[in-house]
Amino acid sequence: MGKIKRIGVLTSGGDAPGMNAAIRAVVRAAIFNGCEAYGIYDGYQGLIEGEIKRLRSHDVSNIIQRGGTILKSARSVEFRTPEGRTKAACVLADYQIDALVVIGGDGSFTGAKCLVQEHDIPIVGIPGTIDNDLYGTDSTIGYDTAVNTAIEAVDKIKDTASAHNRLFFVEVMGRDAGFIALRTAIATGAEAVLVPEVETDLTDLYHFIEKDYNPKNSSGIVIVAEGDKSGGAYSIAEKVAQKHPDYDIRVSVLGHMQRGGSPSQFDRVLASQLGVAAVDALMDDQKSIMLGIMNKEIVHVPFNKTIKHTKNLNPELLSLVRILSV
Ligand code: ATP
Repeated sequence: MGKIKRIGVLTSGGDAPGMNAAIRAVVRAAIFNGCEAYGIYDGYQGLIEGEIKRLRSHDVSNIIQRGGTILKSARSVEFRTPEGRTKAACVLADYQIDALVVIGGDGSFTGAKCLVQEHDIPIVGIPGTIDNDLYGTDSTIGYDTAVNTAIEAVDKIKDTASAHNRLFFVEVMGRDAGFIALRTAIATGAEAVLVPEVETDLTDLYHFIEKDYNPKNSSGIVIVAEGDKSGGAYSIAEKVAQKHPDYDIRVSVLGHMQRGGSPSQFDRVLASQLGVAAVDALMDDQKSIMLGIMNKEIVHVPFNKTIKHTKNLNPELLSLVRILSV
């Protein structure tokens, strides 16, 4: 048996559907490998404050289908400081926790990397964020579910848009990344998509809307990522309304509903795979890495690499929206 006997697990940053499935997998894989598992509540802040409880197999029963995170999530300003991280390391030593699994996004991994560097604690990360904006993995836990939720909502909006010949601007989550917006736009047959990664060309947008939308006999949908540089759905809708006062324009901001709900089968299976792989990696003396999935294979990505690099939108998918709205 390896030297790791106690593994802690925490969720950090924004919550994402499938985090519970990942917690369950980490706890059960730890037990499978002869270790004890400890749940750390409220992310890094809970770690600093010692909000820790041993988790046995039955503690993670009946959670695989639940959204949110049973361990709660929080943002911690204190953990951003070396002093805060020293407190965290002391708490881990008090509990004799030898290694950590951190489920979160790039901010969480930046913090984890610091903890590894400063206190030599083995940490492995699992990508859990609805935004899918992590380099080194094709998909993050929660992204598939969030896109499915957005699609379901837009499908419903399309029904009412069509009944009234309205043009809808639907804002989806994605402060810095347009992955949710792009996939939702393709899957709902939207007229156009606006994402933070691409400067919005208003002339181009007007062209696509004017071609597809007629307030007398047709409807239209434009998907806008919340971080779009033109200022989000309300701002862009206002600009279009100024140019076309005859248009019947509505805005719908989907908001936090995209974070909640039961995870899709894809997210449940991915979370289960990555949870088990994270414990395997720790048993194999690995640290400072994120587990990801690339071309259906589990991959190990150094924290450094995933933090430094930006994942780009697939340009072919971007051009699909354009081609399919001829
Ligand atoms: P999401 O993508 O859902 O926002 P995230 O992991 O990027 O998830 P953040 O709020 O950026 O979410 O980070 C979560 C926590 O990680 C922070 O509250 C903070 O405690 C820690 N953290 C973030 N950035 C750093 C940093 N530069 N140094 C140390 N710790 C950090």
